[in-house]
Amino acid sequence: MTARSRYDWTRADLGELLADEPRYRVDQVWQGLHDQGTEPEAWSNLPKALRLRVADALPSALAPVAESVSDDGETVKWLWSLADGQRIETVLMHYPDRTTVCVSSQAGCAMACGFCATGQAGFDRHLTTGEIVEQVVRARRRSAEAGKRLSNVVFMGMGEPFANYDRTWEAVRRIHDDLGLGARHLTLSTVGVVPGIRRLTDADLPVNLAVSLHVANDAERDELVPINRRYPLDVLAEACAAYVAATRRRLSFEWALIDGVNDSARHARELADYARPLRAHVNLIPLNPTPGYPVRGTSPEGVRAFARHLDELGVNATVRRTRGTDIDAACGQLRAGHQAGGASPVPSPTRR
Ligand code: SAH
Repeated sequence: MTARSRYDWTRADLGELLADEPRYRVDQVWQGLHDQGTEPEAWSNLPKALRLRVADALPSALAPVAESVSDDGETVKWLWSLADGQRIETVLMHYPDRTTVCVSSQAGCAMACGFCATGQAGFDRHLTTGEIVEQVVRARRRSAEAGKRLSNVVFMGMGEPFANYDRTWEAVRRIHDDLGLGARHLTLSTVGVVPGIRRLTDADLPVNLAVSLHVANDAERDELVPINRRYPLDVLAEACAAYVAATRRRLSFEWALIDGVNDSARHARELADYARPLRAHVNLIPLNPTPGYPVRGTSPEGVRAFARHLDELGVNATVRRTRGTDIDAACGQLRAGHQAGGASPVPSPTRR
């Protein structure tokens, strides 16, 4: 188990650590960590000795390895090194109407989706609650420096949040309670880990759910998204239906459009048949080719045609723009890029 980092501490833990300090000092430290989200040395309302004590007892979880800025400053990506040397990434994206941070929930991923750079590299370990929360704190600080307020968090970085449910959910709770982001501005994204969807159905914070569908027939999904063999499409649909019925929230499906793989008219019809009864919204994004899966994303015209087709079939779809491709850093590529030439094996491409 990794050591407790700064944002793994609860308020009660902090009270115990600083039991010899006056109560208001504990409050000030808590505010420094959560309201300001800055380094202890910046908390000028606190005595220097206490700042040093906090910095020492509550080490930051994230040491920057690389930072890339692209899309005219609208996208910032960080590659972090964790205390045990594991590497994860975080992406901050400014849009006209919102600022979103995309956080990792695991170092690596065991889900083995062939088109995903993280899936190609395999699983290393779960992130702690503090390692997840600190990604949000760091992104919020950077956002504030750019004069923008961080408004949304999506769990679409490295890892499968529902394979690390408890720590992820605790992070959601802290982001909501301690950092003050509204539940409707938080989105958990799953490859389709059905037990996690069931748990979320009964959860007490109304966060959003996105399911990475990509293919809506079992034969092809078994190949593209291997967890489908464990939780096939009918089981997934049942869990999604129960979630929608219980929460009355809108479900989203993620669909990475892959040239010649899942972008035909038949694929659109299968998706429409699957999404319509669930009243799901579809997010389309052209695939970012990765070293282990050098297949192109669908062309812009192909993406538009697919979206139009869905519309004709009565399904709402939004086309998303890929971010950060110019810095070779989209969807797991930042870490992969830094390992290129190193020990990390690149699996042979899946050809279809
Ligand atoms: N494991 C979770 C969350 C992390 S992946 C999940 O599967 O939802 C976040 C999203 O990025 C998923 O929809 C995933 O399918 C998508 N994705 C992964 N690799 C991609 C790539 N190379 N191009 C486009 N989208 C990709």
